[in-house]
Amino acid sequence: MSAPEPPMGLLAELTHRCPLGCPYCSNPVELTRAGAELDTATWLRVIDEAAELGVLQLHLSGGEPAVRPDLAAITARAAERGIYTNLITAGVLLDEAGIAELREAGLEHVQLSVQDSRAAQADAIGGYAGGHAKKRAFAEAVRAAGLPLTVNAVVHRQNLDRLSGIIELALGMGADRLEIAHAQYHGWAYANRAALMPTRAQVDDAVATVEAARYRLEGVMAIDHVLPDYDARYPKACMGGWGRRILVVTPAGRVLPCHAAETIPELTVETVRDRPLAAIWNDGPAFERFRGTAWMPEPCRSCERRAIDFGGCRCQALALTGDAANTDPACTLSPYHDRLRALAEQDAAGGTGCFVYRGYAAQPRRGAVPGT
Ligand code: SF4
Ligand code: SF4
Repeated sequence: MSAPEPPMGLLAELTHRCPLGCPYCSNPVELTRAGAELDTATWLRVIDEAAELGVLQLHLSGGEPAVRPDLAAITARAAERGIYTNLITAGVLLDEAGIAELREAGLEHVQLSVQDSRAAQADAIGGYAGGHAKKRAFAEAVRAAGLPLTVNAVVHRQNLDRLSGIIELALGMGADRLEIAHAQYHGWAYANRAALMPTRAQVDDAVATVEAARYRLEGVMAIDHVLPDYDARYPKACMGGWGRRILVVTPAGRVLPCHAAETIPELTVETVRDRPLAAIWNDGPAFERFRGTAWMPEPCRSCERRAIDFGGCRCQALALTGDAANTDPACTLSPYHDRLRALAEQDAAGGTGCFVYRGYAAQPRRGAVPGT
């Protein structure tokens, strides 16, 4: 069997620690604690191994990557090895000097998450008082450092009615690009879906709002809109296809084909402490399990889209059908599609709007978004 093409990108989850507690966070419900994180020397080795494997882009993520004092050193190593570096941050820990240091280390792009257009609502969703104001200051520092800025906004029932305001916020921050992504219902978002699932009317309004803004802002700010899975006819190629374009290294060094893949118990996950990155990518059992199309059941097996979307998301298939090898229920051809729609409608109709914050505590904090 020939070796797969090298991955385009490495998503380096440097830590799960984060001052915010977003209820839709894509980190696993069982968060890795600081003492179990890879040390600096191991991360530098991982960057070297990624460069040798042919990785072109490094996404420095978390949790909040800026809690790591070695963020600049890791960035610098990637830049020395010719890897493009992108920081994905909540923007509440880095001041002007911090972003200037990262720029000096070779950082090339920043993605800043925002929770809402207004401070009270944004701080309530993130569970962090004063966060919204810090993000605005951070965006200014990024622009002052001459770095391109993408604003990421995860949208859901609690903030979709202020989508126009979120677009104006990103514009005011000087973003080159705004990525509006509907919450993906894994991990923390799955636990909070009754508070977060949007109504059908909200999703329809969002499509119209984004279309109008794209037309108005053409050439000023690009806007990506990632629609909820249950609203599409066919699923997206999750991570560009399992084991095809991206690999993820978790804070503890586990190497995954997708950031949510730890939810699939049948996978044998290796770590960067066990084997070199290239070996894990090339023939690691977690990567081989759903790589390509040979593993597919019907209807994917004989579908003309099988090499386009690769059967969609394995984690969603597991969560909703009990078997990660099933066709993603987001696909209208899946025998489980009606189940996905029924769950989405039930969650959108129910719930009090109260959610639990992501965090380490056995008894997590609860919150709700104040009215406007
Ligand atoms: S989604 Fe929120 S809690 Fe999770 S890492 Fe990002 S900022 Fe932190
Ligand atoms: S049946 Fe499978 S391959 Fe075909 S569109 Fe649906 S998920 Fe994609």
